[in-house]
Amino acid sequence: LPEMRIVQGRGIPHQVLQALAERKAKGEQSVVLLNRRGFSNYLQCNDCGWVPECTECSISLTYHKAKRALRCHYCGAHRRAPDACPECGSHKLEYPGRGTERVEQELSTRLPELRVARLDRDTVGGRSQVFSEVFSEFASGGLDCLLGTQMVAKGLDFPRVTLVVVLQADTGLHLPDFRANERTFSLLTQVAGRAGRGEEPGEVLLVCSRPQDHFFHHLLQHRWKEFMASEQELRRALKYPPYARLLRLLLSDEKEERLEKKAQEVAGILEPVCHQSDVELLGPAPCPLERLQGRYRWHIILRALKVQDLQNVVRNSRPSLNMGKTRLSFDPDPLDLL
Ligand SMILES: [Zn+2]
Ligand SMILES: [Zn+2]
Repeated sequence: LPEMRIVQGRGIPHQVLQALAERKAKGEQSVVLLNRRGFSNYLQCNDCGWVPECTECSISLTYHKAKRALRCHYCGAHRRAPDACPECGSHKLEYPGRGTERVEQELSTRLPELRVARLDRDTVGGRSQVFSEVFSEFASGGLDCLLGTQMVAKGLDFPRVTLVVVLQADTGLHLPDFRANERTFSLLTQVAGRAGRGEEPGEVLLVCSRPQDHFFHHLLQHRWKEFMASEQELRRALKYPPYARLLRLLLSDEKEERLEKKAQEVAGILEPVCHQSDVELLGPAPCPLERLQGRYRWHIILRALKVQDLQNVVRNSRPSLNMGKTRLSFDPDPLDLL
């Protein structure tokens, strides 16, 4: 396996620029991956990397700048964003992360001789031709560096790629989903496994703001088993699958206000039924992806030890649900809660 190293910092640390310049000087190539574009609406301390989490649900809270509010997308809890970081006292709390476009600009300013191509939804759109053009130029050595989102992962198969940089490697950890850590772990392991396939040994640099987290400790040592054991422990304590069954009710509507009212109403109808059936009701809360294809989205999460109890709740409450113009769907054992 290639050597995996952590670089503490945000943006593009100096050490990364140096590594990119070294590869270019040797006629080798690099791939720069930006983790999960466009999902960074959480708050992070600029100094210590602290991210606020829901104490009940242990997922990252999303940040609504206009209201200066933090919200849990599972249980619906919300509170005012703090003025200072509770861990280090810093007042520099802000949206983390930058998009690929800003990274590209920064690279061209700080390493003007590096020939970079950016691949993401904005540059590619739906045109697969752009893709193959960029990849064949990269293959022929006409480019030094591919920059982009998951799309550039294909570039990892080129033999001259000896350096892979993952910027904001911890972004995935703050996705409001209880499987966020597991997914990030396997994504980064995959990336590392594919780097340096040619003759030259590969190197992987992971840029993150809190390398002390146990997540990175396990990752660097390739300790998947130990990592998953600690994840399972957490899920047992917090009653997430596989220690409980979930059923997600997804509501969507073109009108936000109508949707919120309807979600409250549905939760009100479900609550007494849940209470009788040993089912726990979380929410209602806006989904992490609050708007999709022109529709606002809210969800209610039902949790129980036995799947029959969930089915009972649906059976007993469904006749009383009058959805009007709001759409409702049931998602048993949801794969994600976004
Ligand atoms: Zn802090
Ligand atoms: Zn919560």
